[in-house]
Amino acid sequence: MKIYNTLTKRLEEFVPIEENKVTMYVCGPTVYNLIHIGNARPMIVFDTFRRYMTYRGYEVDYVSNFTDVDDKIIKAANEEGVSSSEISERYIAECKKDMEGLNVMPATVHPKATEEIPEMIDMISTLIDQGYAYAASDGTVYYRTRKFSDYGKLSGKNIDELESGHRSEGHALKVSGTEDREDDLDFVLWKPKKEGEPYWKSPWCDGRPGWHIECSCMSKKYLGDTIDIHAGGEDLIFPHHENEIAQSEAANGKPFAHYWMHNGFLNIDNQKMSKSLGNFFTVRDISEKYDLQVLRFFMLSAQYRSPLNFSDALMESAKAGFERIKNAVSNLSDIEKSGADTPMTDEEKKNLEAADSFKERFNEAMDSDLNTADAISVIFELVKHANTTAKEGCSKEYAAALRKEILTLGDVMGLILETKAEVLDEDIERLIEERQQARKDKNFARADEIRDELLSKGIQLKDTREGVKWSRI
Ligand code: AMP
Ligand code: ZN
Repeated sequence: MKIYNTLTKRLEEFVPIEENKVTMYVCGPTVYNLIHIGNARPMIVFDTFRRYMTYRGYEVDYVSNFTDVDDKIIKAANEEGVSSSEISERYIAECKKDMEGLNVMPATVHPKATEEIPEMIDMISTLIDQGYAYAASDGTVYYRTRKFSDYGKLSGKNIDELESGHRSEGHALKVSGTEDREDDLDFVLWKPKKEGEPYWKSPWCDGRPGWHIECSCMSKKYLGDTIDIHAGGEDLIFPHHENEIAQSEAANGKPFAHYWMHNGFLNIDNQKMSKSLGNFFTVRDISEKYDLQVLRFFMLSAQYRSPLNFSDALMESAKAGFERIKNAVSNLSDIEKSGADTPMTDEEKKNLEAADSFKERFNEAMDSDLNTADAISVIFELVKHANTTAKEGCSKEYAAALRKEILTLGDVMGLILETKAEVLDEDIERLIEERQQARKDKNFARADEIRDELLSKGIQLKDTREGVKWSRI
C-alpha cells in the first residue's frame, strides 16, 4: 500500500510499526452544530481507509476525538441559555446519527476533550519542565515555538517566514494574549477562564486547554507515543497538526506519527464549504433529499486528496451510479432464486475467473494512495461483466458467486448495496441448503455445526415432512 505522506511530501510504501497492525488518529469535529458535508469527507474517506486495511488483514486501532470545549460551543450555549456540555452532548449524539447514516464505523475510541483534562495538564507540565512551555503572569501557558527546532516540518513553513508573515498580516498563530508572551509565534496550551465559561483547576490558573493539546494527549493515551497514521482535512496541516507535532515530540522525545494523511476540501462553487462562509449543507439537509449512501458514494467518487466540488448535477450522477450497482446486485439475487441448480458450466467458471481479476485491480487502485475513484470504476466494470454474463437460466452458483464479489467490494467501500433483511434471509437459505447437502453426504458433523451456527444467530430449524422450516427465536 502506498500512501502520500504530507510529512515527506512523497508517496511512500506503508510499513506499520507493528506487523499487521495500524494505529490511526483522525481529528474529529468541534461539536456546536450539526456536521456539514465538508466535515463528512474525512469521516468517510478515512473510514474507507480503515475498512480497506481491515480487509487486507490488518487490525486497525482507530481513534477520533470530539472537541467538546471551544469558543464556538460556549457561544452557542450562551445564545441558548444552556450549559456548554448540553450543546456538545446534543451535537455528539446528532453526529453519531449522521455517521450511522453514512455507514461510518464507530471509532475504537471516541475521546472527548473535557474527559481528558488531567492528561493535558500532565503533558503541559512536562513541557514546562523541559523548557518548551512557560506560564505568563495571568496563568496563560504558552508553547515556546522557536525552541522546537523542527517546527514547520509538516507544513513546509520556515519559522522566519512565519515571523515576517505574522508581522505583515497578522498570522493565524496570533492569539490575543498578555504582554508577557515571549514571542508572537508562541501558541496557547492553557488559558484562564472568562466569566460564564466552563473551567478546570490547574497549577497555573482556573481555565481550559487550548485546542491543539487535546489531540497530542488523546493520541498518546489511546495509541502510544508514536503512531502509524495521523489524519484530517488539509486545513489542519497548519497550525493544528504542526503544533501537535511540536507538543508531542517535545514531550515524548519520540516521533509522533510516521504518516500524515490529509483530505482535500469539499467545495461549493469552487469555494471551500465552511460554516464561517455560510455556504454549507449539513448531512441532515442532504438526507432529506438523498439516501446518505449516495452521499458516501459521491465522496468516494474522487481520490481523497483531490478537491471535490459539490453540485446537484454531481449528486444526481452519483445517485444513478450507485443505483446501477444496487440493481446489478438485486438482479443477481433474482437470478440466484430462479437459476439452475446445476454446477457451474465451464464457461461460467471462466467468467468467474475473469471476475476475480477485477478484485486484483480493485486492490491495486486502493493500494495506490486509496484511489477510490479508480476502485469505483473497477466495480462498474465488474457490474457490467455481471450484467452481460449472468442471465436467466445460468447456474445459481455462478450468480451467487458474482453477487458475493460485488458485495465484498461494496463492503470495503462501506456501501450498503442490499437491505439487511434480504441479506439475512438469503444467508439462512444458503446455510440450510448447505446443511441438506451435508446430510446427504452423511457429513453429520457439518450439518450439526450449521444448525448450531444458525441457532447462535437466533434461527431455529425444524425438520418437517415438507422440508426444513426455520423461525426466528
Ligand atoms: P472542524 O469541526 O472544523 O474542526 O472540522 C472537522 C474535520 O472536518 C477536520 O478534519 C476538517 O479538516 C474537516 N473539514 C472541514 N471543512 C471541510 C471541507 N469543506 N472539506 C473537507 N474537509 C473539511
Ligand atoms: Zn486534532
